[in-house]
Amino acid sequence: MPARLINGNELSKQIRSDIARRAAELTEQGTRPGLAVILVGDDPASHVYVRNKVKACHDAGFHSVLEKYEASMSEAELLARIDQLNRDPSIHGILVQMPLPKHIDPHKVIEAISTSKDVDGYSVLSAGELMAGLPGFRPCTPYGCMKLIESTGYDLRGKHAVVIGRSNTVGKPMALLLLQANATVTICHSATPDLAYHTRQADVIVAAVGRRNTVTGDMVKPGAVVIDVGINRDENGKLCGDVDFASVSEVAGWITPVPGGVGPMTITMLLANTLESAERVAATRG
Ligand code: NAP
Repeated sequence: MPARLINGNELSKQIRSDIARRAAELTEQGTRPGLAVILVGDDPASHVYVRNKVKACHDAGFHSVLEKYEASMSEAELLARIDQLNRDPSIHGILVQMPLPKHIDPHKVIEAISTSKDVDGYSVLSAGELMAGLPGFRPCTPYGCMKLIESTGYDLRGKHAVVIGRSNTVGKPMALLLLQANATVTICHSATPDLAYHTRQADVIVAAVGRRNTVTGDMVKPGAVVIDVGINRDENGKLCGDVDFASVSEVAGWITPVPGGVGPMTITMLLANTLESAERVAATRG
């Protein structure tokens, strides 16, 4: 039987509608959720990403600020602007779009963002909170993957999950979130000698590599849940993931498509984190 589709567009719509409702309530009580998005330089893909993020904020009723700076902006100028936004009470989340121009150290920039406004969840402190199982902002893409798995009703407890990729923004936090959900987790990467050996034993596969056809049907256990994070282009320039959808969907139990799977969930979880940040501020005000 072919796999059931996990529809990221549909789930995203449901979650965003709940976020918009909660944002309206919060605004009514005097705290309108606010996100500042900073873009330095003229990377064309980054322009599209920030535009989509700001539009999503607008649609959810958030206050949003998009600041675009020339690639010549100095690191000190950027750090000074982040410092101002850290102290701005109308801003609950700060996102600096990566990649930054080469003369700016991305680690310094990420660490300059106040942990209470680190809605991307990329700082060392946020990563530590996730590692320690403490409350904090979870990186949006793996957080979205967890919501996609949850939406199927699949119980992760005691299941074997294989994460392919170990980046700080996707693979590693994904593995920790699966561990927190009581899965047994294996992390594979470019030095893993026999990827198929691991994926064939997996009840859940999360592919976050950036190389198409990394996972094919013969590498998947029948009934497995397959989450495809990758964004690639095929030989015709068409968007595709890391998973060979045609062959894997014949074997898997559940599968996310590309596009329309993980992609829309990433921005949705950015909204969720920003709303949560605003709710925390409102709660401390009483
Ligand atoms: P990344 O930093 O380049 O990490 C890729 C990971 O894949 C690395 O850990 C690498 O291993 C591993 N890898 C490379 N070749 C491999 C192989 N042959 N077998 C097993 N593992 C291999 O990328 P990323 O930022 O995590 O993103 C991964 C993909 O997800 C990209 O396509 C990106 O565009 C996409 N993405 C999508 C979203 C979304 O919203 N849908 C968000 C973020 C990222 P090493 O560590 O050993 O090099």
